[in-house]
Amino acid sequence: MPRHRSHLLAKARLQIQKAAKDGHERGMLFCEKKGEVLVQDLGKGGKRHLDVPKCPSKTTEIGTFHVHPSGDVRPSAADILVAINSKNTGECIGGKVDGKDIVSCIEFNKDHRDWPETRRRLKEAAGRVVDEPKNKRAALLERVVDLEIEAGIKKGTLKRSTETAPPA
Ligand SMILES: [Zn+2]
Repeated sequence: MPRHRSHLLAKARLQIQKAAKDGHERGMLFCEKKGEVLVQDLGKGGKRHLDVPKCPSKTTEIGTFHVHPSGDVRPSAADILVAINSKNTGECIGGKVDGKDIVSCIEFNKDHRDWPETRRRLKEAAGRVVDEPKNKRAALLERVVDLEIEAGIKKGTLKRSTETAPPA
């Protein structure tokens, strides 16, 4: 999550609560212009889908946030693919975990010398899931993506931060 954290966390919390109620994804898009962050509310998406538009002209996308109504705050393989193919430095997912409103972010340490290797491995693992029809094998392949994320965190090419969105 970019600057103005408390404000954004309050917004994230609201979206997490709405999504937990109706099972629809929601999210935000962060665009930057001369150091100023523009927050675009993405509104209500599908049960397992949320369209993310492009940032307005003369602004640069710096990140996204979206809610998983299931409460699984791990990025899906598709989330990973979109994020590593963008210029963004990470990916934030929100969800209700044990009754708490959680925002979990994975940051990419693109300056790390092993980042290209982590990126390649993640892209390969996530690509296999996306290409696979939804079956048992896809679930196993998702596990491989999780393991690659854990390996990246150990190596320092990825960083995970988890925050509890405070009550407004
Ligand atoms: Zn997702």
